[in-house]
Amino acid sequence: MKVLTYLPTFNKNQRNLEQILVDADGTTIYCSKCGSKGKLIKYIAKGKIKKFFKCNNCGYSNNKHFNAGNNIVKKAIEYLKKVASSDASELRRG
Ligand SMILES: [Zn+2]
Repeated sequence: MKVLTYLPTFNKNQRNLEQILVDADGTTIYCSKCGSKGKLIKYIAKGKIKKFFKCNNCGYSNNKHFNAGNNIVKKAIEYLKKVASSDASELRRG
């Protein structure tokens, strides 16, 4: 599943909201702190089954949606870095 993500970008005097389509596969199961694989632990809150994320490597734990959201933002930032570096290499060539 792909998720449309918005990130603020700053360009000289201009602020923009960049739209980035991020592949959300694996974002719930990988740790947003260290990148290792973790596990989802079920618990019951207000009569409903919910899950939280726990990292097997660093011990980080949080709401599974919060962890996935952090991973999605990280992927979007990585994408922007790649685009920025390819723009820079084109400028050097051109
Ligand atoms: Zn971790």
